[in-house]
Amino acid sequence: MTPALEAVGLGRRYRGGWALRGCDFTVPTGRICGVVGPNGAGKSTLLALAARQLTPTEGELRVFGEAAGSPGQRARVAYVAQDKPLYPGLTVTETLRMGRELNPGWDQEAAQRVVDQGELRPKARIGSLSGGQRTRVSLALALGKVPDLLLLDEPMADLDPLARHQLMGTLMSAAAERGTTIVVSSHILPELDGVIDHVLLVQRGGIRLAGDLDEVLDGHRLLTGPAEDAELPADLVVERRVGGRQATALVRTAEPLEGRWEPDGRWESERPSLEELLLGYLRAPADPRPGTTPADDHHTDHEAAA
Ligand code: ADP
Repeated sequence: MTPALEAVGLGRRYRGGWALRGCDFTVPTGRICGVVGPNGAGKSTLLALAARQLTPTEGELRVFGEAAGSPGQRARVAYVAQDKPLYPGLTVTETLRMGRELNPGWDQEAAQRVVDQGELRPKARIGSLSGGQRTRVSLALALGKVPDLLLLDEPMADLDPLARHQLMGTLMSAAAERGTTIVVSSHILPELDGVIDHVLLVQRGGIRLAGDLDEVLDGHRLLTGPAEDAELPADLVVERRVGGRQATALVRTAEPLEGRWEPDGRWESERPSLEELLLGYLRAPADPRPGTTPADDHHTDHEAAA
């Protein structure tokens, strides 16, 4: 099946420098893909490229096999950006009516459900709503469109915990019922756990890690053991931290450790959680990419004490 997204040598430069460069990745159709990474990593740029709000400076990003946006494709893709362009003078009902008029495949019930869950007054003007309520209206418009690809840029940022939980449920059922591909960026890692089944870790304008979530997690171990015995094969260690007498290391095990280093009985070895995996990568320094702007890197010392 044609992948929902396929990036080949994808790069985007702004006046200040490269926001993304040399990105190669695929998001298969039907997945819920989390785009994670620190502020300034390039997540919003990546989503805007997928939404055809930006064009690549180099390389390409195919959406359902098409390298550039076509009218047919625009109907298949819904995008909820961080700044949500809604008309402040329209009411909630009028906004949904506009969605219905603009989108031939409109599903009023799906849109209405999202609005009702938030107990929004139908006659409330968009301009009088809180940030979280406006997010909800934007999501209602996006889901009402019944897209094949739903692009969500930090949708949870201004929602309360109950609304986040409801939203995640709504997204997962959309994906399950309709096979919608969802690409959602977030820096709130626990929120994505149990929701996403594909991951793209963006760091310093490059793709640090990409793939099926289970395969990625199976390809790593989190080791805990005695600090003095931490002679781990350096090329496989993503991140290693020493706190007192204990060392913790996130290790790539896609290549077997056997014969190179064996954890003895003093070591505990477990499959990392999504959060442990991502934090391990985020704490470890990324290779600086030539030509990219290391925008806002929050990496800490590789050997920082826990
Ligand atoms: P993220 O979403 O991960 O926080 P962004 O994609 O917003 O990252 O930004 C990536 C880099 O590109 C940052 O260095 C940011 O300052 C820069 N950038 C983003 N948008 C613009 C723009 N419109 N003009 C110039 N630079 C931009």
